[in-house]
Amino acid sequence: MVSEGNGSAGQADVVIVGTGHGGAQAAIALRQKGHEGSIMMIGRDSAPPYERPPLSKEYLAGDKGFERIMIRPEKFWADKDIELRLGSGVAEIDWMAHTVTLSDGNTIGYRKLIWSGGGDPRRLPCTGANRKNVFYVRDKRDADAMMAALEAGAKQAVVIGGGYIGLEAAAVLRKLGCGVTLVETESRVLKRVAGEELSRFYEEEHRRQGVEIRLERGVTEVVGEDRLATGVKLDNDEILPCDMVVVGIGIVPAVAPLIAAGAAGSNGVDVDFCCRTSLDDIYAIGDCAAHANPYADQAVIRLESVQNAHDMANTVAKAIMGDKEPYHALPWFWSNQYDLKLQTAGLSLGYDATVLRGDPESRKFTVVYLKEGRPIAFDCVGTMKDYVQGRKLLEKGIEKVDPELLADTDVPLKELI
Ligand code: FAD
Repeated sequence: MVSEGNGSAGQADVVIVGTGHGGAQAAIALRQKGHEGSIMMIGRDSAPPYERPPLSKEYLAGDKGFERIMIRPEKFWADKDIELRLGSGVAEIDWMAHTVTLSDGNTIGYRKLIWSGGGDPRRLPCTGANRKNVFYVRDKRDADAMMAALEAGAKQAVVIGGGYIGLEAAAVLRKLGCGVTLVETESRVLKRVAGEELSRFYEEEHRRQGVEIRLERGVTEVVGEDRLATGVKLDNDEILPCDMVVVGIGIVPAVAPLIAAGAAGSNGVDVDFCCRTSLDDIYAIGDCAAHANPYADQAVIRLESVQNAHDMANTVAKAIMGDKEPYHALPWFWSNQYDLKLQTAGLSLGYDATVLRGDPESRKFTVVYLKEGRPIAFDCVGTMKDYVQGRKLLEKGIEKVDPELLADTDVPLKELI
């Protein structure tokens, strides 16, 4: 733990800010690649590094305890001589002096700094949003608070946001017997990340499971008594009664100290092909790192996925060890809702057509995203083979494919390579 004061609180060869997926993997990869210098991980979270995806899935449902979502057993970090400074935030960076200042005023020196700060949940911008039973789903504390509310008897939830996190939380809440109304401002759920076929399929599935969905509706107020929410007011003045509110409306990249220190970036922090920021000896990875992605025709994007955090961490570990191999990993993602498993390969950004492979009614199908006739992404619901073979197609860099062949489930995708 960190000592109080305004002095030096240590020094490490590599300092990693953030103890989430990217930070933890960067430390692991450095040791795997033979890095012998000291490594210190500094994280605001007071729990040792853990996986975030289960927070809206098995952990929230009570199916997996904390030990089963830890990235490594607690003693791993000491065994690998990786110092963990938990419950400690970095407030400032002096890149010329190669130091970071913690929120308690102490400074830590570094030779190389890896910033893996992820993002903070975007706050609901309306009156009443700070009531006690308004929950976000980003870290363990958030999930624990939701679980406590459910244990205390919450029976009716309003979920705000029809992205993956909102939908997954809705599925768990239904499984736990809680009534759910889901509010989405867009004309369909998952609009930002998926095509219409997938959106409509998940809307249908949630409705079948008892979720009420309100599309094209904004929230104007969280109404309540004292500090407790009792309802969510929509922009048509309707009030949805509830005893808990769950908000999943995206994240804001946690990069303020980096930007204040002068790093380039407008949506997160800009990084180059091996995840270097514009500041000497400072790398950035994961959710907060804006990079030119080869699977998005080199568009500069941020990806919010375990794959991206993990693979960028490996790129940085290699770079620090002298191997400047560019980041070029194929993006992939997954989401579990009810008994449905979605696996996504590639990025659908900029698609101009889709092909449906299989029948959504059977609850096993694939949506293929095309750009100028070329497959760029696959959303696979219960179609593991398509996912595995679709990944291979994308990695090989496939050109135009006959849409009829893509739609034909009797033609394995691997035959199109
Ligand atoms: P994080 O894992 O978020 O770690 C960032 C850490 O940095 C945090 O602990 C934060 O507290 C800390 N930090 C921030 N600023 C500071 C500071 N100034 N000082 C010290 N510490 C700081 N991805 C998938 O691929 N599949 C899924 O199914 C999936 N489900 C998800 C479900 C939920 C509920 C959430 C929240 C995310 C999910 N994701 C999923 C996304 C995935 O978890 C993230 O993309 C991944 O965690 C990003 O890793 P990261 O290291 O960039 O950030």
